[in-house]
Amino acid sequence: MRVEGAIVDLDGIRQGYVRFEGGAVVEVGSPGTASRKPGERRIRGIVVPPPVNGHTHLGDASSTVEPPRATVAEMVEPPNGFKFRLLRDTSPTRKSAAMRRAMLRMRREGIALAVDFREEGVAGVRLLRAAARSAGLEVQIFGRPTRRPLEGNELDELLREADGIGLSAARDESPEDLDRIAGACRAAGKRLAMHASEAEREDPATYLRGKPDLLVHLTCATPSDLQEVRDAGTTVAVCARSNALFGRRPDLAEFARVGVPTILGTDNAMLHAPSIWRELEFDYVSSRLAGAPVAADFLAKAAFVEPWRWLGRPEFARIAAGSEARPIVLRLPPDDPAYQLVTRATEHLIVRPGPPRHREPAA
Ligand SMILES: [Zn+2]
Repeated sequence: MRVEGAIVDLDGIRQGYVRFEGGAVVEVGSPGTASRKPGERRIRGIVVPPPVNGHTHLGDASSTVEPPRATVAEMVEPPNGFKFRLLRDTSPTRKSAAMRRAMLRMRREGIALAVDFREEGVAGVRLLRAAARSAGLEVQIFGRPTRRPLEGNELDELLREADGIGLSAARDESPEDLDRIAGACRAAGKRLAMHASEAEREDPATYLRGKPDLLVHLTCATPSDLQEVRDAGTTVAVCARSNALFGRRPDLAEFARVGVPTILGTDNAMLHAPSIWRELEFDYVSSRLAGAPVAADFLAKAAFVEPWRWLGRPEFARIAAGSEARPIVLRLPPDDPAYQLVTRATEHLIVRPGPPRHREPAA
């Protein structure tokens, strides 16, 4: 198959053609220079690395009715927020089935990987790991210890099962526990992630203390906070639809101006569908509505390129002959690719150039 149109990847946005064989990229070149192969399928479109959902809570996917109109604290704060009551009152079987459905949906929508904050300790991580295996979606699971102060070997056990630790917020932890969690993550070669400055501003010293790999939200961060985060080399996952439910908005134009490494997430599955396509459009439109427009290029990079860099797999975001990338193709006009991707793309326009990459079953 040969796609004539545009390429959006680690090397930027450009016009060109991509030739695929069995899902792998075998040739990339300038527009109109491809050799003709008789019988080859030809389409016009945009070639991108598969998107990553950079922040989910799949554990609350079992909720099927409109969530109460409450504050962030009433909704998601441990231990008695709406979400934690939902988790407590739902059986593991139902939770697992709901998480699996959400992951199957992401797979259908072309998402290659989700980065999930999983509550409920070691058992929570195991439940998601098993559901992900049966759904065939790659998931990076950030588990959370259930007891404070930290007790026994829960943290070590969690770090054996999970890809990292995902905390509700640095300010919910004592400095001793936070230091111990950060140190244990480093020692185990795993990552540390946490929500920060979501409902109100926190001092960056609070959340940068543990040298986190990923911060989520920064809705209430000031421009100088964002500079500190950038200088610390920390990536931020933004979830604009989730913030909007509580009357807030990440200033994405400022994120772009400062140069904060940014990825996109869909946050709680009880609030929103885990669709990166919807997130992209909302990010763009809501920034225009607020009179602080963010560039479509920045958003496209946040969905398709930056997550692979953050994951330490930049080769998955480079569309070149023989690369690791297994790109997807969108049947969209290629003249202004970032704008098309951000405002027009949906899963219905995806053309898959070959069978999905073979995945090793998780150990
Ligand atoms: Zn979250």
